[in-house]
Amino acid sequence: MGESTNVYASTHPGGASQEAADAAITDDFELAGVPDSFQRLWTPYRMAYIKAGQDQVKDEESCPFCAGPTRSDEDSLIIHRGKTAYVILNLFPYNPGHLLICPYRHVPDYTDITAEETAEMAALAQKSMRVLRHVSRPTGFNLGMNQGVTGGAGIAAHLHQHVVPRWAGDGNFFPIIAETKAIPATLGDIRLDLAAGWAELD
Ligand SMILES: [Zn+2]
Repeated sequence: MGESTNVYASTHPGGASQEAADAAITDDFELAGVPDSFQRLWTPYRMAYIKAGQDQVKDEESCPFCAGPTRSDEDSLIIHRGKTAYVILNLFPYNPGHLLICPYRHVPDYTDITAEETAEMAALAQKSMRVLRHVSRPTGFNLGMNQGVTGGAGIAAHLHQHVVPRWAGDGNFFPIIAETKAIPATLGDIRLDLAAGWAELD
């Protein structure tokens, strides 16, 4: 494996079969648009999480993104607390180090946030990318916000931006990651690494 090895994915197979698998999922950026972006992140088994998530959130008291900052960084898997927004590890990651950037305010839509919140969320997304590159050397990222249940938001009531680190061939392992579920000890270790990386880059 080269310099882009995922330090959290030591159990992932490598070698020639890996390279062949990578070649099979190469994006075709010669065309206008993004023809296979949904193919890459289309993960129907996650609908169980999405549906369960909506049912959990009745109001701000039951909202995990409102409750998170009221607990310790360790308990809530928080990487960094900003002035208007914070950075937290996703409990149901697509990939190790999958971060969420959330405003503290319980608002659902990107058009609901202030200019200050918008600017800070953007700055936190940039810093998140720098920290992830520093700690685990991803070679790509997906940044995005799913808006509404129809748009695939797991917790539609509280805005959150995804920062998903990507490594060549990782798409082949999404089902394995989903089956593995969240392991608190592992997420705790990842949080420690990323929080330390965040402080190092301050
Ligand atoms: Zn909330």
